[in-house]
Amino acid sequence: MSFQLFGLPVSRGVAIGRAVLVASSRVDVAHYFVDDARVEDEIGRLRVARDAVAGELSLLKRDMPAEAPAELAALLDVHLMLLHDDSLTGATKQWIVERHYNAEWALSAQLEVLARQFDEMEDDYLRERKADLEQVVERLLRALAHGPDASFSPAPAVGARDFAGEDPLVLVANDIAPADMLHFKGGVFTGFVTDVGGRTSHTAIVARSLDIPAVVGAREASRIIRQDDWVIIDGDNGVVIVDPSPIVLEEYRFRQRQAELERQKLARLRHTPAVTLDGERVELLANIELPADAAAALEAGALGVGLFRSEFLFMNRGGELPGEDEQFEAYRAAVEAMNGLPVTIRTVDIGADKPLDRMSASELRHEHALNPALGLRAIRWSLSEPGMFRQQLRAILRASAYGKVRLLIPMVAHLSEAKLTMEALARAKQQLADAGKPFVDIEVGAMIEVPAAVLMLPAFLRYFDFVSLGTNDLIQYTLAIDRADEAVAHLYDPWHPAVLGLIASTIQQARAAGKHVSVCGEMAGDPAFTETLLGMGLRSFSMHPAQIAAIKQRILRSDARRCSASVRDLLLGGAGVPMEPAQRASTRNG
Ligand code: PEP
Ligand code: MG
Repeated sequence: MSFQLFGLPVSRGVAIGRAVLVASSRVDVAHYFVDDARVEDEIGRLRVARDAVAGELSLLKRDMPAEAPAELAALLDVHLMLLHDDSLTGATKQWIVERHYNAEWALSAQLEVLARQFDEMEDDYLRERKADLEQVVERLLRALAHGPDASFSPAPAVGARDFAGEDPLVLVANDIAPADMLHFKGGVFTGFVTDVGGRTSHTAIVARSLDIPAVVGAREASRIIRQDDWVIIDGDNGVVIVDPSPIVLEEYRFRQRQAELERQKLARLRHTPAVTLDGERVELLANIELPADAAAALEAGALGVGLFRSEFLFMNRGGELPGEDEQFEAYRAAVEAMNGLPVTIRTVDIGADKPLDRMSASELRHEHALNPALGLRAIRWSLSEPGMFRQQLRAILRASAYGKVRLLIPMVAHLSEAKLTMEALARAKQQLADAGKPFVDIEVGAMIEVPAAVLMLPAFLRYFDFVSLGTNDLIQYTLAIDRADEAVAHLYDPWHPAVLGLIASTIQQARAAGKHVSVCGEMAGDPAFTETLLGMGLRSFSMHPAQIAAIKQRILRSDARRCSASVRDLLLGGAGVPMEPAQRASTRNG
């Protein structure tokens, strides 16, 4: 039976594919296809893992102390029985043979199928056996990771788009941590749906950077959608259609083709300079998460990198941070790839919905800090770890010897943060000079993401050479709305007069002081805001490479003088008579 779910549209386009349900705790399981020649090997890996787990369980049973409760031995018997049950290992084998999933993926796919069956059981005792099944699968996954053939995987990953004969796949999960999204770069999924998340949560931002359709905050999606269901993800409207009828499917296939044609048309603008109808030149820069993204930035015609979110280098490392040399190599790779174009490297912005390890954002939110968005994140965290901070500063400075580097400091709110940052930078330079390591003097900018920074911008401008507006956080902190929380997503409003006033004020003050000002939040890559930002005087936009062409097209069709006049009206209207949400929505779509 066909049905629809509604969420927040976070990454444009339409994806049609079979659902792959992944439990949040297993999102980091490798997902790749194995080719025909490797199917037998993959089944072999599964067999070895199963035998290893059977051995482990038998040993545990054998060595059980005499005084151990009898239930424990019975429990181990249940685990052994589950392990050998055909519905687990036999069916997992089928996923490998028929779908060419790697063993870990096949196992987690089958776990999702069985978990549903357990959930639906009437008998309490049987329903509770789901936990046992999960423990057995955990053991199998561990055995696969440490098995004799562990080094075998996951190198020969084959992307879904390249795997002939396979149905396209879409990922359905309760939540995906931003770091886990990175696993999916160039991967097998052509779309995402999650139960939780906001429009500018970092999970949504990474989904946009992957340029594949995504809907977040679809509440019950991962509970209602079943493994292998056909799903349409409408990333323009935030709609998820499960088990669509042939007519609906055809309608969306048509929309996919139209979107592809539009994309090809836009790609022709790659070498066209972004100049408004009245001759105002606009700089379009790229936001990147990893050095490898620099290629996409160049491909899209970016004039540089306006935001390199360096924290992605720090994630998923089991608490071990990258050292100075490792960071230096990563920054140098990005700088060299950009061929002399500027690369703006932001110091690490860990915290809030970007945990260091692979704990999910919601786990982090609920278990570790009462209010992480207001807690120890961004420059606050860096200043609380002076050794780590200076190490990063040295690595960034060293990369400056290989191209044009700019340093960007996230979330400044106190002048003391500016002073301490400059002191740390001076020390890092001194250390490099003493060690005879080359670097050049780089420009230092502040991210304007907290209303306090706007309200005292002239004081901050005495310290910084440029500013970059982080509108994602600026909206969050101005309106007191957690950007990652779908429960308040309807109140996260970039058109709020207070938000527009702060953005306009920052642009105007920075320009008046002769300082370069850019916007690197998601508003910069959304064509609905292009004319408003142009009208406020903005001439530098930084966004995901995939959005550059659409923004350029909007700029080519805009008249900056007219935009300024409209913005004056908008700001006056905002200050006097606040617009109703419905009016704002119509402005947005216009
Ligand atoms: C922002 O806050 O707008 C921004 C660009 O930084 P991030 O999204 O990484 O917090
Ligand atoms: Mg930010």
